[in-house]
Amino acid sequence: MIINPAARSGRARGLLLPILPSLLARGWRVDAAESRSHQDLIDLVHEAVNRGCHTAVAIGGGDGSATAAAQALRGQVVPLGILPLGTGNDFARGLGMPLDPRIAARALVPGRTRTIDLGEVTALTTGETRTFACVAGIGLDVFALEAIARVPWLTGRLKYTYGGLRGLLSYEPQHVRVTVDGQEFSDEVMFVAITNTPTYGGGMRINPGALMDDGTLDVCIVRRTSRPRLISRYPLVYAGRHVGLPEVWQARGGRVEIASGRPMRVCIDGEITSLTTPIRVEIVPRGLVVLTPSPGDP
Ligand SMILES: [Mg+2]
Repeated sequence: MIINPAARSGRARGLLLPILPSLLARGWRVDAAESRSHQDLIDLVHEAVNRGCHTAVAIGGGDGSATAAAQALRGQVVPLGILPLGTGNDFARGLGMPLDPRIAARALVPGRTRTIDLGEVTALTTGETRTFACVAGIGLDVFALEAIARVPWLTGRLKYTYGGLRGLLSYEPQHVRVTVDGQEFSDEVMFVAITNTPTYGGGMRINPGALMDDGTLDVCIVRRTSRPRLISRYPLVYAGRHVGLPEVWQARGGRVEIASGRPMRVCIDGEITSLTTPIRVEIVPRGLVVLTPSPGDP
């Protein structure tokens, strides 16, 4: 088990401690390690697998940790188990994991597995690639994450709401051209979100119909719209009721290409990356084995 002690604004370690005894009591042998960064987590996962860990690599953290572990375990037979200790936990939500870490730990114990898709972003200028578990995005979301990074003490939904509002003040809508399996979109946008999971940003049902094992990515684009209108419509996304609004464009496909007038930064699962547009985003079908709760679990 690898834990990201920085997850959930530094409270992940405290959340994990009461869980360990229950895993041991259920017959798990747990080797615990703490990750210091995205790359460190990837290295720890590789090390665990190379040392012969073939039962499962469990990660205690949020979507940033999940995506790093997914990158490390991509294409391997060793399953990834996720203990939701982050702020957003959209990967865990997508898998149907209980969001209470103690209940989630019990759900991991039987070792039921399932194979899911991942996504991969390629920056066309540099050739740099990144694997993602939940979402890749451009536009307002990047500015929201920048704002969130400045208020590490905020938690939960408040954190994303603050980030979105603050990001709106600095983001200027950009013109983008998006192609989803040949289907074209071209307009000024607030943001483009390409997701493997139905939710992002801590439970916003941005692509409510997304499935994590259907071999396609779901795309949601919000066209340029006024700030007051965006703010007034924003609560709808928690119920997925933004679908069908005139400024919302959605598509589903295995290959997405995005070009923009000037380079736009790309964010992946809560992190602003060094990748910029133009990008290609592709599905990695059945790229990851995960531990999944049994249908009867709470
Ligand atoms: Mg899908």
